[in-house]
Amino acid sequence: MTTLENIIIELTKNPKTRPIDENALDFGSVFSDHMFIMEYAQGKGWHSPRIVPYGPIPLEPAAMCLHYGQEVFEGMKAYRAEDGTINLFRPDENFKRLNLSNDRLCIPEVDVDFCIEATKKLVEVDKDWVPSAPNTSLYLRPFIFCHEPNLGVKAGDQYLFVIIASPSGPYYKEGLNPVKIYVENTYVRTVKGGTGMAKTGGNYASSLKAGVEAHDQGYSQVLWLDGIENQYIEEVGAMNIFFRIGDEVITPELSGSILGGITRKSVVALLQKDGYKVSERRISISEVEEAHKNGQLKEVFGTGTAAVISPVGILKYNDNVMEINNQEIGELSQYLYDTLTGIQWGKTAGPEGWVVKVC
Ligand SMILES: *Cc1c(COP(=O)(O)O)cnc(C)c1O
Repeated sequence: MTTLENIIIELTKNPKTRPIDENALDFGSVFSDHMFIMEYAQGKGWHSPRIVPYGPIPLEPAAMCLHYGQEVFEGMKAYRAEDGTINLFRPDENFKRLNLSNDRLCIPEVDVDFCIEATKKLVEVDKDWVPSAPNTSLYLRPFIFCHEPNLGVKAGDQYLFVIIASPSGPYYKEGLNPVKIYVENTYVRTVKGGTGMAKTGGNYASSLKAGVEAHDQGYSQVLWLDGIENQYIEEVGAMNIFFRIGDEVITPELSGSILGGITRKSVVALLQKDGYKVSERRISISEVEEAHKNGQLKEVFGTGTAAVISPVGILKYNDNVMEINNQEIGELSQYLYDTLTGIQWGKTAGPEGWVVKVC
């Protein structure tokens, strides 16, 4: 059994220089001094947890992840509050979701509590890497992959679990910024029964082409429709999506093909608490077009750990370019952004258990 006591810590002898301008940090290109790593072997379970200097991982060319894509990941952040305290946001949800992804990809289960402790330990070791400028954070990327050298197609017997950390600048440099989204009418991301509900690299690999084509037309992201009828709304690349139509706030239900976002779940909880009419249900692109035509489509926004809330200014479906709320930030989007970031950066108290102190 892996326990906190047996996490070996090997500190770096060559600490890196930390970025000076925290506001200029982009996403995911600078890494902290250390990483967490543990191994899995059939018959032995998860073992040898350790925190070691960040660096390359030796990999055989026959490592199965490179050939058949058996890999899952998570994305979360460590936030520095004004008093210097460092917090995580709902880390239990991340590791519970990791186990859902593990199950779908035939990767062995991890112990949720142990993973939270390992994450806290890594953040504590690299605490100087948690930036303190407003809206900056230390992005954490836990991931598991099969490194067993074998070209046979099967679920592997050997895995590595790694957590790396990357200081990130503010997602929005000058306030919330509405994005232009392309409603995808050719490609599909996944289907019910596929891997859409798992956070796995393959879902991203299969979405790149649509992203490139949308970019070429001046759109920043793709909104996916269901893979069977090409009618029902699923989600944006790495965000769930919400529509405010009349007095109802709607987000697609978790039907098996979309990812259950923790930001999505938190937004639903906050809206319910505030007495909004929130529906998790099927919503078709024609319903959205209809609501837009009738002036009932008040706001559209994406939710995800990176941007928190991302207001949508333009939605393009075939030849219909829908402008939403004059491409301005909606009041609900702004309210949710302020409330969630307030909780995450420790300015306001959130519901019980959402904020977990590291140190
Ligand atoms: C990670 C992710 C999200 C957002 O999930 P959060 O837990 O809110 O960060 C949404 N969709 C996909 C496909 C994702 O990979």
